[in-house]
Amino acid sequence: MEHTCKCTQKIVALDVESVLADIHSAWITHYKKEFTIEDITDWDFLSLKKWNESLKTFLDETDLLWTNSPEEIPPTVSNLKEATNHLKPFDIVTSRRTLGGIIKWVEYHQLEYRAIVYVSDDKATLDYCMYIDDNPNLASKIKDNQFLWLISQPYNQQIHESSQIRRIKSILEVDNK
Ligand SMILES: [Mg+2]
Repeated sequence: MEHTCKCTQKIVALDVESVLADIHSAWITHYKKEFTIEDITDWDFLSLKKWNESLKTFLDETDLLWTNSPEEIPPTVSNLKEATNHLKPFDIVTSRRTLGGIIKWVEYHQLEYRAIVYVSDDKATLDYCMYIDDNPNLASKIKDNQFLWLISQPYNQQIHESSQIRRIKSILEVDNK
């Protein structure tokens, strides 16, 4: 599939949660939740109100998973090392604060990344050429020379494809040329 990335620095910004690590499955399984990922239909978790869940319960409980048992968090696709080969060179770019657990996790999966970068909010300001992410808010923030491969999830269905945005099911569909 063609993409229109116009940057000169061809480094991919690879998100962690829901792109590499299946954090929603880990959360639902570990805490024996009564909903499925299909029930999470918005980025702020308002759709989980009837289960008494919120963005805060998600972040607090998954912080514990990242800190105490990162090995329990499954990858989104099998054999991640091989599955990320065609994305190189890439940085791992995350807004999750539990960097220690994330580093353990990416080392465990033997990912050949260039750097791990923490960003508190707007990833588009980091000036990467290409992003692989599930965050619907990033779609409205990318600059004219940036490109977003949007990992399709129930909570980002409102985002339309464009010359700068393509929706994909997994990192295996990314064409990094
Ligand atoms: Mg994510």
